[in-house]
Amino acid sequence: MIDCHCHLPSRYKCVLNLHENGTSDSFYRQLTSFGIHPWYCGDENLCQKQLQILEQLVKQNQIIAIGECGLDNKLTSNSVSTQKKWFLKQIELNQHYNLPVYIHCVNMVNEIIILKKKWINQHWIYHGFNSSYEVAKKLISMNCWLSFGRVVLNNNNIKINTSLKLAFENKRLLIETDNDETHFTDLQCVYSVIASRLNCSIDVLINEVHESLHQLQIL
Ligand SMILES: [Zn+2]
Repeated sequence: MIDCHCHLPSRYKCVLNLHENGTSDSFYRQLTSFGIHPWYCGDENLCQKQLQILEQLVKQNQIIAIGECGLDNKLTSNSVSTQKKWFLKQIELNQHYNLPVYIHCVNMVNEIIILKKKWINQHWIYHGFNSSYEVAKKLISMNCWLSFGRVVLNNNNIKINTSLKLAFENKRLLIETDNDETHFTDLQCVYSVIASRLNCSIDVLINEVHESLHQLQIL
């Protein structure tokens, strides 16, 4: 069972999103991603430094994905234009390396879809997916993977089932906790709820997620 995106080390195998400069002890022992998050792109000098670190990590094969990065016009006061500037720098850098990219997107899905068209060959992972079936369909048709997390634990969220099914059938499904200092979700619980929503066994689900991670060359 793998946690496809989290911010804290896990007792499960995981893709750990690094902050700062990624030099913690756990760094070399885990699958890791690194990027400039739209919430933390307000300091020009710091971002410039982080971009250099990112390039170094990518060149030295020390991360398996870029991100999370993206656009958010709800949960941060950083302007969308500043967010977009740093997002694009990371995407442009990735043109030479073609690593998977973890996308953080809040209230900006149309913009992400427009940008994705320009970088159709890149493998983007839309993390914390909680959008409509139509958006899921569009993203999957554009070479995106969908990563589902704690929103599935809300029993009232029935509409997510069609997107889950679509991602599953198209082998574009990932599962994550997004665990950080502010909240904890049990990974096994997320797998178990998704298995029940898809009417399949947890073992089948584990295989599907492995298959997605293989396709993305993360495993
Ligand atoms: Zn995250």
